[in-house]
Amino acid sequence: MAQTEQLAKLIKQSSNAVFFGGAGVSTESGIPDFRSEKGLYSAQEVYGYPPEKLLSYSLFLEQPELFFRYYKENLITTAKPNPAHFALAELESQGRLSAVITQNIDGLHQVAGSKNVFELHGTNHRHYCMKCRTEYPLEYTLGFDVIPICEKCGGIVRPDVVMYEEQLNNKVISAAIRAIEGADLLIVGGTSLAVYPAAGLLDYFTDDNLVLINKGTTNRDTRAQLIINEPIGEVMRAVMEVLK
Ligand code: ZN
Repeated sequence: MAQTEQLAKLIKQSSNAVFFGGAGVSTESGIPDFRSEKGLYSAQEVYGYPPEKLLSYSLFLEQPELFFRYYKENLITTAKPNPAHFALAELESQGRLSAVITQNIDGLHQVAGSKNVFELHGTNHRHYCMKCRTEYPLEYTLGFDVIPICEKCGGIVRPDVVMYEEQLNNKVISAAIRAIEGADLLIVGGTSLAVYPAAGLLDYFTDDNLVLINKGTTNRDTRAQLIINEPIGEVMRAVMEVLK
């Protein structure tokens, strides 16, 4: 594929590449996109609300049982990193990639070995007590039937993810913006760039070297230097072969 060779060339020439990824990066690990048509349908069918409501802060406060049920059954998985995650971790260790910015909460980039990861929507690997702020790992929360309770104070232990109606973490956003502003190559994968405000981050990239890897079209196709409409795992695996 000539496109993967082109991408490999751009990565070689770059001195500060950054990756920005969306749900499509995780779906190749078998994690369903809850914003997909199927995800929307099953949320409504099984839980009586769309995902935006089930994952909202107001529903969390009013019906925590329902929130945790949906969350546990749909956002906690035993999925493993796919070739895209491993390729990005490898590129970082080779000094070819400076940061990964992700909209996913599954922590799979770190599992694959990436170190500098900005998780715009938080992570399901971290939890904390809403009363005393004690932090707990994912494993602790799995020991509860529905609502995880703090062993120190009895407060509710919530996931460190950004729920609908909540603000994104300012520190994470600022760091992501700095990474994008400083990049000379931005590789965007697995997102149609439809979800704001995360998608607006792309406006901070002023260089020409924008690469879009997505199965469908995106909002920024006209700005891209290179567009690859193939599964990102295959694309990145092929790129790593060229870079060997
Ligand atoms: Zn507590």
